[in-house]
Amino acid sequence: QVKRDGRNGLRFYAPHMQRYSERALALSSALKQAIAGNELSLAFQPQLDLASGRPVGAEALLRWQHPQWGPVSPAEFIPLAEQSGLIVSIGWWVIEQAMAAALRLYRAGLTDMVIAVNVSALQFVQPDFVEELSRRRDRLGLPAGAIEIELTESVALLNPEEVGLKLSALSAAGMRLSIDDFGTGYSSMSYLKRFSVDKLKIDKSFIDELNDNEEDRAIVSAIIQMARSLGMKTIAEGVELAAQAEQLRALGCDEIQGYWYSRPLGQEAFDAFMADATRALAAGTAVPPGA
Ligand code: C2E
Ligand code: MG
Ligand code: MG
Ligand code: MG
Repeated sequence: QVKRDGRNGLRFYAPHMQRYSERALALSSALKQAIAGNELSLAFQPQLDLASGRPVGAEALLRWQHPQWGPVSPAEFIPLAEQSGLIVSIGWWVIEQAMAAALRLYRAGLTDMVIAVNVSALQFVQPDFVEELSRRRDRLGLPAGAIEIELTESVALLNPEEVGLKLSALSAAGMRLSIDDFGTGYSSMSYLKRFSVDKLKIDKSFIDELNDNEEDRAIVSAIIQMARSLGMKTIAEGVELAAQAEQLRALGCDEIQGYWYSRPLGQEAFDAFMADATRALAAGTAVPPGA
């Protein structure tokens, strides 16, 4: 038997199929207890503004530490949570924690930082999603732009009218919106024209060989130019090398995130990172990328 695997192309699953679905079932069932059991946490990956060398915020990334199985990758459990519908309550937990992180930064005097949150299409289409989001933000007294919502291009596959209304409500509420993994999905450019998208996140797969591959460079350059012409920002994800950061700056990319600037960090390490980076900048000792 043959099954298509997004990462590796075709793979044979004959004896493994059984094991895979058993694990999926076990994980899916264990996930129900994950919030109550304190097994979830967020990691924060800092994002860097290339022109100024300033940290601009972070992406919140979900982590699940199962008591017996150890860390389970979000790439594995998010799809299961989407299938079971559990992603909605998990998603609210993520938003609550991300807002708490944004509030800590704000209270530490870093008043213009943005925390980006991955929102599954299934959560996004919940009837009261935008209202609930603004309600929570206002209750904490967070500035309007402190939280950014990351959606993938897959939302374009949903009912366009409903999505259009939601996106308008989102921007009316002052919430920022970015398109995650841009260039890998169902790319209908028409939604970029119709909806107010603030930022395109250029997928890591275009960054990996940026310095050696002319096609990747051409694609990245075209995305940056297009974003610019439409008044959107760009951020490159998965930047691991100084040479990639330098190339991206030369191409006019606004921001980067990736192991080169910082790995995703736990709460305390993240708060310290942001305080240090800001202090270094104020003291004039920050080293801009490529310098
Ligand atoms: P994503 O949103 O595209 O997140 C970027 C992924 O790339 C993260 O993987 C991050 O740890 C990884 N990454 C960042 N920089 C580098 C780098 O320089 N090199 C390499 N090799 N990897 C890098 P992670 O944390 O495993 O998350 C995987 C995916 O799971 C995310 O992709 C996102 O689609 C999803 N996800 C994570 N947290 C959440 C969440 O709270 N809710 C939802 N709905 N999805 C989430
Ligand atoms: Mg993301
Ligand atoms: Mg991404
Ligand atoms: Mg990605």
